[in-house]
Amino acid sequence: MRYDYDLSVIGLGPAGMAVAVMASNMGLRVLGIEQRALGGECMTVGCIPSKALLRMAQSRHVFDNLDRWALEGGSPPHPARPFARIAEHLTYVNDKKTTAMFSKVDLKLREGAASFVDPHTVAVGGKEYTAKRVFICTGTRPAVPPIPGIDKIDFLTNETLFALSEIPESMVIIGGGAIGSEMAQAFSRLGCKVTVVHMDPYLIPQADPEAGQLLEQVFSDEGISVYNGRKITGVDKENDQIVVHTDRGEKLVGKELLIAAGRRYDFSSLKLENAGVAYDKRGIKVDKALLTSQRNIYAPGDCNGAHLFSHAAMHQGMIALMNAMIPWPFRMNFRRYLVPWTVFTEPQVSHVGAMEKELKERGIAYEVVEERYEDYGAAIAEGIAIGSVRAYVSKTGRIYGATIIGEGSGEMIGEWGLAIQNKLRMHKIMFLQHSFPTMSFLTKRVSETWMMNRMKNPLLKAMARRLF
Ligand SMILES: Cc1cc2nc3c(=O)[nH]c(=O)nc-3n(C[C@H](O)[C@H](O)[C@H](O)COP(=O)(O)OP(=O)(O)OC[C@H]3O[C@@H](n4cnc5c(N)ncnc54)[C@H](O)[C@@H]3O)c2cc1C
Repeated sequence: MRYDYDLSVIGLGPAGMAVAVMASNMGLRVLGIEQRALGGECMTVGCIPSKALLRMAQSRHVFDNLDRWALEGGSPPHPARPFARIAEHLTYVNDKKTTAMFSKVDLKLREGAASFVDPHTVAVGGKEYTAKRVFICTGTRPAVPPIPGIDKIDFLTNETLFALSEIPESMVIIGGGAIGSEMAQAFSRLGCKVTVVHMDPYLIPQADPEAGQLLEQVFSDEGISVYNGRKITGVDKENDQIVVHTDRGEKLVGKELLIAAGRRYDFSSLKLENAGVAYDKRGIKVDKALLTSQRNIYAPGDCNGAHLFSHAAMHQGMIALMNAMIPWPFRMNFRRYLVPWTVFTEPQVSHVGAMEKELKERGIAYEVVEERYEDYGAAIAEGIAIGSVRAYVSKTGRIYGATIIGEGSGEMIGEWGLAIQNKLRMHKIMFLQHSFPTMSFLTKRVSETWMMNRMKNPLLKAMARRLF
């Protein structure tokens, strides 16, 4: 059969972009369909605007502290029009960078939601297009918990947050995960009185407790109120303020309410049943090659629910495309690749590999090797002495996982990921020189500490004395 395209890609966020741009550069005929904006959630209402806002908030915080330490008089003004500035930057990126990447893709942009007619045919904008293979890259939407009264409140989600005209005077955030915590610190540092309320026992519940507890201490020092372990019993409005009621009888009040309480999957417009693609409430079902239940359709990215991160979505896009060209026995298993992650608060929280709680549950013997920023002269001198580099390691130096809390952790975690994924042991890190005085030097220090711990063995000590 002759198809209109080699492949069609539905949704052009990080996953869809990876597929469409790589395939078109390989000379394949690509149809790209996006109902909203190129770059998807990540570029428009996710990673990029949220990190831009955090950067502005961080600069403001530095000035505030300078002011406290050294300057006379009042604080500098808040950054002018933060959301308008972010929008200007995003428009520039879209017009000058992203659009050019799609020059070889046949784009159907803002023509509506694509839907399947059959496994090879997709309809959009009143027309039908056939393709040999289809890649579903439709991501997720913000979940809104069924809180009594929520339907009568004008609340914010990440899809509306960055369209605010100014920083509100106060805000309640429902959700203490990555998005809730990042936005809590950003808005607070930009002058908003922030309250975070959530059901988990500590912030960033996907990490080990120390990270969330440390972050809560920092939040408290910065004036952010955190209510852990609360069930929300209702929301309503009193005197132009939104009131969030908890199961402990608290009334948490804010001018705005941000819901950052997880994600949901909405495949209603796609008509997956016409293509025979199976899904459930945790996303589209895929095998290790990222193939769906229909043998010509792949589903990389958030839409399959495996890992909700942009870098994972891009990586899966690349793997799905390669698997579409590789014979079955040689296809790549996307689950074999580690997924590091970072929460971009200050201090940043990053992790890769096994969590300590996971090692305990699986009964794996491990040693915790840790270096603290507060013991590192460079970190003290630079005023960033909060956090630690912590690795979970076997007796023989095999690295199971690493958690870094502190300045630069998002940049540092990649080295640990490389070591774990390639089964490098601790001595390999020890013999790698690291620039000084960087925070990544702490990674080398962790490996040296691990080696020094070996020297507690009397036999090795005796050997060292003899050989010296
Ligand atoms: C506030 C916030 C901050 C975040 N920060 C980070 C971060 O710092 N680092 C990180 O790694 N991740 C972050 N994430 C997560 C990240 O945004 C997602 O993991 C990533 O965008 C997923 O990429 P994707 O391509 O799978 O889907 P998406 O980016 O969601 O893209 C899917 C696209 O499909 C389109 N679409 C859906 N249905 C149809 C249809 N029927 N027809 C046509 N088009 C359709 C949508 O319009 C959308 O553009 C953040 C998320 C949020 C909300």
